[in-house]
Parts: sequence; structure tokens; C-alpha cells
Amino acid sequence: MPEKQKQIAKKALGQHFLKDRRAINLIAGAIPEGSSAIEIGPGPGAITESLLDRVGSLTVIEKDDRFAAHWSEIAQARGHLSVVHGDVLKVLNDTVASVKPEWIVGNLPYNISGPLTAQLAGYPLSGGMVLMYQREVGDRIMSGPGSKVYGGLSVLARHHYRVKRLLLLPPGAFSPPPKVHSVVLLFTPHGETPACEYSALQKIVRKGFMHRRKTIANNMKGVLSAEQLGAIGIDPGKRPEQLDYGSWVAMALAANAV
Ligand code: SAM
Repeated sequence: MPEKQKQIAKKALGQHFLKDRRAINLIAGAIPEGSSAIEIGPGPGAITESLLDRVGSLTVIEKDDRFAAHWSEIAQARGHLSVVHGDVLKVLNDTVASVKPEWIVGNLPYNISGPLTAQLAGYPLSGGMVLMYQREVGDRIMSGPGSKVYGGLSVLARHHYRVKRLLLLPPGAFSPPPKVHSVVLLFTPHGETPACEYSALQKIVRKGFMHRRKTIANNMKGVLSAEQLGAIGIDPGKRPEQLDYGSWVAMALAANAV
């Protein structure tokens, strides 16, 4: 693919190409040599090139036709690379099921990073995930109860993982530069067996955070009564952002039992 064409960014696909060498080394370097990985959105390949030199097998998922074609051509010469051409939100489940990756990596397209993370957090990978976000989304994922930005993603991320910020990057680390800072987060498995199904947690989180200003009893109407919340140790007058991961699991279990 001609160098010039590689750098043309499509806004609709959230394309901001990483050019900061330190960030590239840090992201690729977090993936152990010889492991199996999926990269979401390789684009022109800032991270992909380094990953290819390290990992045992790499599957890239790319929606943009020109990048998918480019990596498919490279894959013919590099046997440990495979390409899935499609919308990651649609093809991820099947790709994870067939590849069984240890790691998932990606400088995520910012316009789908919320729903994509809700999906990603449900995979109990043995290695983990290294994902790049707009700072605001990264802060939401990292935050704890009581924080203004604590929400559904903060709860879901804790189901299988411990999350740590590896890096904060200014807009100038990308071409074209986004309007905001970005962060790289490392998701490491905490190793504890979750007490409820991820799908049950997702359902209860969606319902519980529907109206942030309302009490949890109000949000849970039709699913759990104030009495039922009290019975599992949750003050029905609390707001959703005051409840920790354990409380959300307790609600998921109670809702499934009724
Ligand atoms: N990895 C490259 C880098 O760091 O320079 C590109 C990152 S760019 C922020 C996001 C990438 O995801 C682009 O290559 C874009 O085409 C791809 N992408 C956007 N939406 C996608 C989707 N729904 N499914 C798969 N790939 C997508």
C-alpha cells in the first residue's frame, strides 16, 4: 500500500494513527513474546508491525477495506497473521471463539469504544487486554463508586479484570491529532471466579444506571423491590453511582432468582 494512501484518515471510522514510538513500544511490549493475540483496528499498522515481530499468532480485525486488503496481502507471506474483514462489533464474538486469544490489543475507534468495551470485558482472557481510549472513557472505566464518572463500564470491567493506566498521551501523539488526550489501559485478570454470569451483570447494570439521578430502588422498579434490595444489604435510597461491584453482583443474582 503506498505510504501516502496509508495516512489518509477516515473520520467516520475514528481513525487517529498512533505515531509516538514510546507508546507503540509500550503497547506491543506488554504482550508476552510468543502469545496469541487479536488486534482491533490495525489501520496502517503502527502497533501491528511491532506485534508481528513478537507474538506467536496475530488476528487483526479491520473494517476499512483498504487496510483489510493491505493486511490480507501481508498475511500471505507471514503465516502467523490472519485477517478478519468486518465490523468488530459484529465479528468479535465469533473471532474470539475460534482464535481463543490470550490477549486483545487495540487503539480503539473512539466512536464505538463504549459498546465495544462492554463486549470485551466479558471475555475471560488468560493474558489480558491493552486498550487505548479517549481519556474521558478511560477515566470512566478506571473510576470507583462515588466518582461522578463511575458507571456501567466501571462495573463491567471489574468482572474479570483489574485495570491499570499505563500511559497518558497528548493529541500530538496521533495523526491527525484528536481533540482530547488518550490513555492506554492494561486489563489483567484478577483470577477470582465471578459469582454471577457476565450477561446477568450487563443486564442489571444497564437497568440500574438508566437514570443516574434516581435512586437504585427507582431504577430497579419491576425487577427488584425496595424490600428485596434491603434484604441483600443495599440501601434502596442510594444512587447507582454509589454502589460497588459487589452490590451489582448481588442485584444480578437476586434478579435472576426471582
Ligand atoms: N491501530 C492503528 C493505530 O494505532 O495507528 C489505527 C487505530 S484507529 C484509532 C482505529 C482503527 O479501527 C482504524 O484502523 C479503523 O479503520 C478501525 N475501525 C474503526 N471502526 C471499526 C469497526 N467497527 N470494526 C473494525 N475496525 C474498525
